[in-house]
This record gives sequence, structure tokens and C-alpha cells, in this order.
Amino acid sequence: MTETQLAIIGAGLAGLTAARVAHETGIPSRLLEASDRIGGRIDSLRSAGGGIVGDLGPTWIWPPFQPGVPRWLEKLGLDTFEQYDHGEAVLDGFADGPVRQPLPGQHGMARIAPGPGALVDAMAAALPDDTIQTGCAVSAIHRHEDGRLQIEAPGQPPLLAERVLIAAPLRIVAERIQLPPEVSPQLQDTLGAMPTWMAAQAKAVIRYPRPFWRESGLSGRIASRLGPLFEAHDHTAPEGGAALFGFVATPPEHRDRAPLREAIIAQLTRCLGPDAALPSEVVIHDWAEETWICADADRHGPPEHPRVGPDALRAGHLDGRLWFCAAETAEQSPGLIEGALLAGEAAARAAVQRLQGAA
Ligand SMILES: Cc1cc2nc3c(=O)[nH]c(=O)nc-3n(C[C@H](O)[C@H](O)[C@H](O)COP(=O)(O)OP(=O)(O)OC[C@H]3O[C@@H](n4cnc5c(N)ncnc54)[C@H](O)[C@@H]3O)c2cc1C
Repeated sequence: MTETQLAIIGAGLAGLTAARVAHETGIPSRLLEASDRIGGRIDSLRSAGGGIVGDLGPTWIWPPFQPGVPRWLEKLGLDTFEQYDHGEAVLDGFADGPVRQPLPGQHGMARIAPGPGALVDAMAAALPDDTIQTGCAVSAIHRHEDGRLQIEAPGQPPLLAERVLIAAPLRIVAERIQLPPEVSPQLQDTLGAMPTWMAAQAKAVIRYPRPFWRESGLSGRIASRLGPLFEAHDHTAPEGGAALFGFVATPPEHRDRAPLREAIIAQLTRCLGPDAALPSEVVIHDWAEETWICADADRHGPPEHPRVGPDALRAGHLDGRLWFCAAETAEQSPGLIEGALLAGEAAARAAVQRLQGAA
């Protein structure tokens, strides 16, 4: 049996933010992560030298509408740059053949330089070395006889914690983590009903020697009814590494990599011209294959954007010993980077306040 004041389950952005906030207030934490890497839905395509050259998870932030994002970026010393959106888009499948047309992007949309992976790296960098434990899949939380919470993970000694923050996706919690019987059936139902944003999505990053589409007045944006990408965007890195990214319309059960790759290249060639037939790299990241992110309910249900969930998702449970803080629990921008930052921060502050009050 090991012990900690604060245990955090899930080392995605919300869990990392929570650990960082706790650390800054002098409270050490144990951050337990099921996967062998940190970052959760934030993952990056990297060059041989380790630099970020593409985003396999999120790309965009909306700083004018998301106060938490610019605050954290400034604190962590990270910059933003614009989503390239100059020139015409291509509409694919709306007429006989692809059609060029202006299609303005969203106001306020920006990118983190060189990608959201830098946010994960910076958030983790200040944590003491023994904070994060990967390969630790929490399967159950029990009430210990002294009131603390006992965390179980196969192959690991039980961990006794004064307070626990669950930063794992809510549907994963509902399907995979056994909670103490005092957690009401209504709350269990609420957890299972909250979709995990983008959990079943597949994203393709297609790298090129140069951003050839810009040379012919195209923005790189494609809106398609034919697929396999239902939309694509310029994804060129700030240092100039040319790329596009697209969201895959093909459902999870039909995402065989080789034919999907060929169909994506054929679609980009149809829409952007023959230069598109010669990518330097094509990477398809299928999030539906991520055991600890995509729940069965996400994989088999229709894609749903998370709505703002009930207050119970932001409240303390079990006498203020347990909180949830995945992005989907946030009151603002649930399911987004902003939501993960705000939820991780708020839950850590609530737990720290209880811990300091008890001291
Ligand atoms: C393809 C894609 C595109 C997106 N685009 C955008 C975008 O443009 N802008 C935007 O703002 N957001 C976007 N998002 C959403 C954004 O990535 C998420 O809101 C954010 O990363 C969620 O962070 P989180 O920490 O709440 O959850 P997650 O990143 O899901 O982290 C949860 C962590 O918990 C771990 N875990 C699960 N179960 C257990 C367990 N039993 N024990 C221990 N650990 C466990 C998981 O392995 C994971 O590391 C996108 C997401 C995807 C996948």
C-alpha cells in the first residue's frame, strides 16, 4: 500500500493542469496514466529530431472567446499563430466536379506554436520527476475504513489518497472504473451519457515538400460530401513544413489504413491538383482505437459535441474527497482544450482548499 495526499487519474491536459496547479500550491500529487504516454487526446507527429510537425489530435484554439487558453499560454511561454486561410476553398461533391469558392474561416481561430503537444510538454516540465506514473490503468476506487479513497490498478500496489481527481473521459469512467457504492446511480448515468469529444474521430496529416495549393490561390480548405475526408485544412508548420490535415468520414469499422490512404490522396489530387499525388508522409491517427479514450458508447453511437453537463460533474463527491475534471465537465468550452484547462484548474483548487483546510 502506498499513500498520497492527492491522486489524479488520467494524464491528459486536464490531469496535467490539475497536477501543475497542486504543485504550485505546495501539494504533491500522484498522476496515474493508463497509457504509456501522457497527453491523452493531444498527440503530435514529430520529425526525426523530435520537433512537432503535425497535430494528430486538436489543432485550434479561439483565444478571443477562451480566457483560460491565453492565460496558460502566457504563463507557459508559448506563442500562437494564425490558421492559414487565405484564398479560395474547394467544394467537393456539391456540383459536377470540385468547385473553387471563397469560404471564410472562423473568427478568432488560432494555432499554438508549434502545436498543442508543446502545451503538454510545458505543463509536465515543472512537475517533480516522481509525479507521473504511466502504464497504470485504474480499475476501481474504494472507500478505505479511515475514510480515504483506495485506488486499485492491476499490477500496482493499492494507493491510499486523501483526495482524488478523475481526469479520465467520463464515459471511460462509467464503463471501466468501479466507483464506491455511495456514488449515486444518477451520477453513474450522467457519466455514461457524456460523449467524449472527438473520441471516435480519425485524423489524417498529409505532409508535402511545399504548400503548392497556396501558389494557385487556394487556402487548402476542402469541404466534401464525397470523402473520405469530409473537411481538410492547411496544416503548414510555423517553420514552413508544408502539410494539410483532414477529418475522416469513414466509420471506425471501415478504416483499413492502406485503402484509406490511397483514397485520401486521390481526393486531394482531385481537389488540389497533381502535386497532391506526391506527399512526403501520410499519417492517419484513429482515435477510435485508443482504449483509454474512446468508450464503446462513443465508438458505436453518433458523434455528439458535449453539451454543458449538470453541476454534479463539477461538484465534490464522497464528502469532498472525489472530483471529476475531464474537459467534458467544464462549464465553458466543454470537450475542448479550454475546457480541460479550466476543469483541471478548478478541481485542483477545490481539492487543495480541502487539503489545506484539513492541515
Ligand atoms: C482528433 C481531435 C481533434 C480535436 N480538435 C480540437 C480542437 O481543434 N480544439 C480543441 O479545443 N479541442 C479539440 N479536441 C479536443 C481536445 O483534444 C480535448 O478537449 C482535450 O485534449 C481533453 O483533455 P482531457 O485531459 O480532458 O482528456 P484526455 O485528453 O482524453 O485525457 C484523459 C486521459 O485519461 C487517461 N485514462 C483513461 N482511463 C484511465 C484509467 N482508468 N486510469 C488511468 N488513466 C486513464 C487516458 O489515457 C488519457 O491520457 C480534439 C480532439 C481530438 C481527438
